[in-house]
Amino acid sequence: MTVLVLADSSSAQTADQVARVVTAARGLGEVVVLTAGTGSRELAGQILRLEGVTEAWWGEQPDRERIAVEDLGAWVARIAGEFSHILAATSLFGAEVIPRIGGLLGCQPVTGVVEIRDARHFLRPIHAGAALALVRTTGHPILLTVRTERFAPAPATHRTASARQITDLTPLGLSRRLEFLPSLREGTADPATARVVVAGGGGLETREDFALVEALARALGGAAGASRAAVDKGLAPASLQIGQTGLHIAPEIYVAVGISGAIQHLAGIKEAKHIAAIDIDPNAPMGRMADVFLPADLRTALPALLRELTNRT
Ligand SMILES: Cc1cc2nc3c(=O)[nH]c(=O)nc-3n(C[C@H](O)[C@H](O)[C@H](O)COP(=O)(O)OP(=O)(O)OC[C@H]3O[C@@H](n4cnc5c(N)ncnc54)[C@H](O)[C@@H]3O)c2cc1C
Repeated sequence: MTVLVLADSSSAQTADQVARVVTAARGLGEVVVLTAGTGSRELAGQILRLEGVTEAWWGEQPDRERIAVEDLGAWVARIAGEFSHILAATSLFGAEVIPRIGGLLGCQPVTGVVEIRDARHFLRPIHAGAALALVRTTGHPILLTVRTERFAPAPATHRTASARQITDLTPLGLSRRLEFLPSLREGTADPATARVVVAGGGGLETREDFALVEALARALGGAAGASRAAVDKGLAPASLQIGQTGLHIAPEIYVAVGISGAIQHLAGIKEAKHIAAIDIDPNAPMGRMADVFLPADLRTALPALLRELTNRT
């Protein structure tokens, strides 16, 4: 069986993410990776060395940085019958392209897969991660998006797979990206990939409170994140939201500041190795999740921690 992995060349996390999707795909058969858009040739060069990859395909359109998902989806749908499975990361890209292919082929995708049991059985979280559903699917091809934080990156090998250029990614002309507006400020670390994430929640009241969270994140060499409550209050951008409807992160250390521990938030931090929490309420549920819990007001605790960290450097 041959498995097709789709990769988005426009994202900074792509190489690591693709390596993780390849790990998920390797158990299903020989892996062909298709990446499209500006930078796809370079990305294909990295992918060629990943264990399990037999071919890396890349394609660009002369005047477009990013291939429109409808162009990519239509192209993949035409050759989909050659593959037993088609996979992408559970990311914005995966959420756009995989259902599109499913629509064109009349196949129901299985999304957010955390474990591949065999070629037809997949585990995916339901009820904000409170339970897992074992799903059996019978379609051909089987369409999946996989949670990359649940799969280790495929290692690089000395052997190199073959590269192939796709030259017929014809634009359908349905849409065109006019401008790219990064949601993270320049120089700001990305919580999706950071080793340390400090997130602020509903306990924050002002922008100054969130600035303290950002300062602690910087001092620890990490990235700032937020719960939905902080996003809803307008204290943090939606791109930093962690949880069921936000980012799923896997940092070494996660620090929750004024975050109560709702299951929808916990769904995004299940893969964090160590959790620390600061909350004014000594009985906050997050305290039960945390390896280290500081029952304190964030407005006194964060400045004190920052002073301590500054004194140590
Ligand atoms: C379908 C659905 C999807 C959702 N998706 C998400 C999601 O992706 N991510 C997400 O986060 N939420 C999500 N939610 C919302 C979720 O249910 C919670 O409402 C939200 O996570 C609460 O955020 P919070 O814990 O930061 O705020 P709160 O529940 O308001 O908790 C605030 C905490 O701060 C503490 N606190 C207050 N003042 C201070 C202080 N001065 N110092 C220290 N601590 C203080 C309080 O004791 C409390 O524990 C979703 C909800 C639904 C229904």
